[in-house]
Amino acid sequence: MKLIRFGAAGAERPGILLESAEPESKQMFLDVRAMAFDIEDYNEHFFAHFGLERLANLLREPGRRLVPAEGVRLGSPVARPGKIICLGKNYAAHAREFDAKIPESPILFSKAPTALIGPADPIILPEGVTQVDGEVELAVVIGKTARRVAESDALNYVAGYSVLNDVTDREAQRAAGQWFRGKSPDTFCPLGPFLVTRDEIPDPHRLKLTSSINGRMLQNGNTADLIFNISFLIAFISATITLQPGDVLATGTPAGIGSARTPPVYLQPGDRIECTVEGIGRQNNPVMKNRS
Ligand code: ZN
Repeated sequence: MKLIRFGAAGAERPGILLESAEPESKQMFLDVRAMAFDIEDYNEHFFAHFGLERLANLLREPGRRLVPAEGVRLGSPVARPGKIICLGKNYAAHAREFDAKIPESPILFSKAPTALIGPADPIILPEGVTQVDGEVELAVVIGKTARRVAESDALNYVAGYSVLNDVTDREAQRAAGQWFRGKSPDTFCPLGPFLVTRDEIPDPHRLKLTSSINGRMLQNGNTADLIFNISFLIAFISATITLQPGDVLATGTPAGIGSARTPPVYLQPGDRIECTVEGIGRQNNPVMKNRS
C-alpha cells in the first residue's frame, strides 16, 4: 500500500493511493477517515494498533469512499513522529566529499519534527541563510516498539519506506559543535509523497536514489552502498534508544551534494529540487525566501 496524508497543512486526513493504470491526473485516494472514523491520523497510535492491517481491510470494502487526487495537497505521510533520527556520512563516497573521514560506527543526529513538510511544499530559506543543501535519503518508518532488537529480526519492526530530503543549513551545521540547529529550520524536512509499506519493497538495499536542482542531477546513488544497513541501524539504535511506532529513520545521503562542488551549488529562491527513490516515490519542492 501507498499511504498518503492529504488536505491543508495542519489539517491533513489519512488516505491510501489506489493503484491503477490511470495517468497521474486520474488517480484516486481512499479517504480513510470517511470509512473508519477512529483512524484519526497516521500517528503512533495508528501504527501501534494494527493500523496497517485495518487499512488492508478497508481497501476490500464495497462502499469505498474515494477522492480525486488531482490538485490535492499532500502532507508528510506520517503525522508528527516522536523523533527523526538521521545518519551522518553513511555512504563512503559522501563521507569523502564531506570531510574525508569514513565513520567506524554510525553517526546519529536528529531533525526537529516541526521541520516536516509535504512532498511539493515550499522550502523556505530563513533570512540571511545562504548555504543550503538538499540531501536525498531513503527514510524508514518504524511500525512497532523496538527495544534491543536483534539485527536478524530488525526489518520486522519496519512499517514502510519513504523519501526524505535532509535539507541542511551548512553554515549553521559547521558553526555549531552540534548539527541540530543547521538541520532543523522549519520546512527543512520534505517527506513523502508516500509511505510505501514494507511488503512492496522486498529489498530496501538495492534502490537508486537521486536529487536534481532545476533539472540538473546532483546526486545519483544506490542504497546498496550504505555503510551501515537498515537492519544494523535498527539493532544499533534500539540497543539503547527505544524506537516507537511512527519514528522516522533517515539513512544518510549519497555523494554529489551541491556544497561539495566547485563552485558550490546552494539552493536559491526560485529553484526547484527533486528527490527520488526508486519504487518509493518522487518529491519536487520549490525553494522560496522567507516573507516575514
Ligand atoms: Zn542527511
